[in-house]
Amino acid sequence: MREVLTNKELYSSPHEAWKECLKLIKSKVPFLTYNSWFLPIKPVKLSGTTLKIEVPNSFFIEWIDEHYNTVINDTIKDVLGEDARLIYLILDGKDDTIEEEVEEIQEVPEEEPVSYVEPTNNIPPDFNSYLNPRYSFDSFIKGEGNQLARAAAISIGENLHKTSFNPFFVYGGVGLGKTHLIQAVGNRIITKHPGKKVIYLSADLFTVEFVEAIQSNKVNEFSNFYKSMDVLIIDDIQFLIGKEKTQDLFFHIFNTLHQSGKQIILSSDKPPKDLKGLNERLISRFQWGLTADIQPPDLETRVAILKKKSENYGISLNNEILEYIAHNITSNIRELEGCLIKLLANSSFSSRDIDFELVKRTVKEISTNRPANISIDYITKTVCEYYKVDENKVREKNRKKEVVRARQLAMYLSKKLTKSSLKTIGLHFGGRDHSTVIHAYNSVENEFMQDEQFKEFVDGLRSKIEFNAS
Ligand code: ADP
Ligand code: MG
Repeated sequence: MREVLTNKELYSSPHEAWKECLKLIKSKVPFLTYNSWFLPIKPVKLSGTTLKIEVPNSFFIEWIDEHYNTVINDTIKDVLGEDARLIYLILDGKDDTIEEEVEEIQEVPEEEPVSYVEPTNNIPPDFNSYLNPRYSFDSFIKGEGNQLARAAAISIGENLHKTSFNPFFVYGGVGLGKTHLIQAVGNRIITKHPGKKVIYLSADLFTVEFVEAIQSNKVNEFSNFYKSMDVLIIDDIQFLIGKEKTQDLFFHIFNTLHQSGKQIILSSDKPPKDLKGLNERLISRFQWGLTADIQPPDLETRVAILKKKSENYGISLNNEILEYIAHNITSNIRELEGCLIKLLANSSFSSRDIDFELVKRTVKEISTNRPANISIDYITKTVCEYYKVDENKVREKNRKKEVVRARQLAMYLSKKLTKSSLKTIGLHFGGRDHSTVIHAYNSVENEFMQDEQFKEFVDGLRSKIEFNAS
C-alpha cells in the first residue's frame, strides 16, 4: 500500500490541493472534457481532508457525477488520503448556498460558512455575505433591456450612500439577470469597501430564518442582525406576499436601515404596485428610491451573451451557430446558458465537435422540454389535426389548397402565440423566409375582416392551444 501523507503536511491551501487533483484528472480524461468540466471548478476551502469546491451550476455536478464519479473520487483520495471528502458548492444563482456531496458521506463535519469578505475589524470573522463572486459587472452584458437597471446598479456600487437610489428596486421576468445584477452591486461594494457589512439573501430564505427565529425565541437577535447591515440585498421580494408577520418585521428593518442611510436593494418579478398581497406601506416604501425594470434581451444582446459565455467555457462558436441559438432561444438568459451547457455535455459525451447538426438537436431538445410554453411544433400539430393534413406536408412545398391553408394558419398562430421571430417561424416551415411568414400573417388577418365565421373558428382554435399548453 502506498503511504499517504496527511494533507496538513502536504497542502496549505485548497488551491494547492486542487491543483494537484487537476494534474491527475488531466491525465485521466479527454482534453475537451478536462477543459469544459474540470477547469471551471474553483477550490474554496480545505478543512482537514475535506475539500470544498465551487461549480458553476447544478448541472455540472450531475454530469461529473454521472460520467466521472470514479475518476474524481479516486483522485481526491490519491491527493488527500483515504478519508478525503469532496463537497460541492453550487453557484447557480438559485442554489448558491446548497452543498452537495459526491460520495455517500456518513458524517459531514459542521462546516463554517464560506466567507467571501476579507475579515476586518468591524466584521465578525464568520460573517458571510452570501454573495456569489461570479456575479460581477464585468460579466454582466449591457443591452437595451437592462440599460437603466445596470447603470443605476453601477452607480450605487461606485458611490455607496451617495445616490438617492434607496431602495433600489429591480424587477423583471425570470432568468433576465436580476440576481446577477443585485449581487454585482454587493460584490463591487465589498471590493471597494471591505469594512462594509453587505448581505444578500432571498426573501424566501429570510422567511425561513424568521420562522426559525420565532421557534427558538430569537426574533430580536434576528431583527438586530439585519438592522446592523450597511447594505441589505433581498432577492425575489414577491415571496413575502401573504406572509404578514414576515412583512411586519421586514417593514421595521427597512425603516431602521433607511433612516440611517443604509442601502437597501430589492428584486422582484413585478413592479411594486403590482405586488398584490403585499402590505401597502411596504409597496409605497419600495417606490421611494429608484425602480428599474429588466426587459428580455434583444437579438444582438443574446448573441453577445452567447459569445462571452461560450468563451468563458473555453469553446469558440462561429457566428452562424451563435445566431441560430440566439434566434431560437429568445425568452431568457438562463435558457441561453442552459443551451451552451447542454451543447458542451452533448459534445463531450459523444466525443464530437460542436457542429451545426449538434446545435440544432440541442436547441430542439431545449425547446421541446420547455414547460407550459407554446411551441411552433405544437401549434402546427393542432392546426393540421383540424385540417386533416399530414404535418410533414406543411413543411414541404405542397400547394394543395388545404395544406396551404393549414400552413398559413399555423404560421399566423405561431406569430401570435410564441415569442419566436419571423425568421425562426420560417425555419420551422421548411426553411421559408420571413416574408412568407408576413404574407401568411396578413392573409389571415385580411380574411378575418371578410369572414366573421373564420375569425371565430381561429379564436376557438387559439384558445384550445393556449388551454392545452398551460
Ligand atoms: P433572474 O434572477 O432575473 O431570474 P439571473 O440573474 O439568475 O436571473 O440570471 C440567469 C443567468 O443568466 C445567470 O447565470 C446570469 O449570470 C445570466 N445573465 C443574466 N443577465 C446577464 C447579462 N446581462 N449578461 C451576462 N449574463 C447574464
Ligand atoms: Mg433570481
